[in-house]
Amino acid sequence: MGEKIRNGRGRSERPAALTTLVRERISILLSLAEKELKLHPKRSKRYVELVRKLAKRYNVRLPRSEKLRFCKKCDSPLIPGATVTVRLVPREKFIYYKCKCGEVRKVPYRRKA
Ligand SMILES: [Zn+2]
Repeated sequence: MGEKIRNGRGRSERPAALTTLVRERISILLSLAEKELKLHPKRSKRYVELVRKLAKRYNVRLPRSEKLRFCKKCDSPLIPGATVTVRLVPREKFIYYKCKCGEVRKVPYRRKA
């Protein structure tokens, strides 16, 4: 399917193939970061750093699902039960993600039928 790229900053001309490639790389790096977290936490953070650098450099927007896979503050992958506490607040229709560094993210959730 065609992909619409909108970023109000002009310069939206860029080869779609490159974006696809960068996205793939990002997804691989995130998986690696998650895998390495236990044994090599430092390496794991490096992978997340790379992900952020790639996204920035190529101006690639991460899908929500991927943004929630790491902490913006400490670059740690967010793994429920390991580095993040997930709390559902149905009354507020939000999910709270609390990283072990203290960073809290509040994400609206959509109920699945
Ligand atoms: Zn954190």
